Amino acid sequence: MLLNIIKQEVKKIFMTHNDKVRYKKMILITLIIIFIIKLVIFSTVTAYQNINSSRGVWGQQEEEKVEEEPKYIKWVDFSLTLEVMEKTSKLDIESHINNEEVRLNWIELIAYLACKYGNNFASFKAQDLNDLVEKLRSGTTIEELAEGRKYFSYYLESYTAILGEFIGTYQIETINEEGERVWEERYGLKAFLPIARGYGFSHYDDFGNSRSYGYRRVHLGNDLMGSIGTPIIAVESGIVEAAGWNQYGGWRIGIRSFDGKRYYYYAHLKKDNPFIRDMYEGRVVVAGEVIGYLGMTGYSREENVNNINVPHLHFGMQLIFDESQKEGTNQIWIDVYPIINFLKRNRTEVHRPEGSNDYMRKFNFMEANIHD
Ligand SMILES: [Zn+2]
Repeated sequence: MLLNIIKQEVKKIFMTHNDKVRYKKMILITLIIIFIIKLVIFSTVTAYQNINSSRGVWGQQEEEKVEEEPKYIKWVDFSLTLEVMEKTSKLDIESHINNEEVRLNWIELIAYLACKYGNNFASFKAQDLNDLVEKLRSGTTIEELAEGRKYFSYYLESYTAILGEFIGTYQIETINEEGERVWEERYGLKAFLPIARGYGFSHYDDFGNSRSYGYRRVHLGNDLMGSIGTPIIAVESGIVEAAGWNQYGGWRIGIRSFDGKRYYYYAHLKKDNPFIRDMYEGRVVVAGEVIGYLGMTGYSREENVNNINVPHLHFGMQLIFDESQKEGTNQIWIDVYPIINFLKRNRTEVHRPEGSNDYMRKFNFMEANIHD
């Protein structure tokens, strides 16, 4: 109605000027202007909505999802050989003891070699290590050498989680020339073999073997066959997380390293006398101290039952980059067979003081990360 009146009026104005072409042109221009205005309004609203959605409720959820995306290491293959551990640790320790200008770090050497071999150390050649050390000693940094090596930081983090606390500074009691007990500061291997010095044992690489008892599962550790009662030694310092009975492990102790990355599992301990008297969950354990005694308990729901055929210590090492990996299906256990071989050079001397029921280390040990 109103539109018609306007049309009529406009027509009149233009008709009176007798210019139909001009009238048509005006209509066309008006339509174009309306179209442009609509387009501008639409794009402004859309842009505003986009800004809001990235800041608003939807946006928040998206951001939280990104944060929830786990960034920790999910899997580690441990194929390191005794030879590589021996050679790299020797370079590290000697460069520190001799106060060499360039201090070598065995974990960095290992991470670099892991890049070179795709983490398959069966390909190790001593010449590759020599070349690497030569470059480092001539002043090139490991960061410069590793540049462009895509997985260097992954290997560095993985091998730090496994071996990061094995070598460093520590204090140990020793007997001086006058026959007195004195503390000595040293740099070197500060992780210990889980079997006390002077006690025999045998083992082979049994990681991944199938098991006879219970559900289908593979062997996630190394069995050290020895005599019942052999003092069991803490490999590394940490906090006792489990000390008691477990259907599979029997009497067992679980110790978490101070950095939380390693969980050491000592199982099948001795019937009636599995642990030292002073053992409880939450206790601080010092590397190289006696924690319990070798036995053959386990494979039983009932407590304190010997159901293992051959007396042995089951020793396992679990890596934990995120607490979700501690229990359940995402566990990472590594083959500790080469680690056991490597630790044979560092065994705790023990004795049983008169009147004591327990064996104890002869020489006390301290390291910087131990605190009550
Ligand atoms: Zn075992």
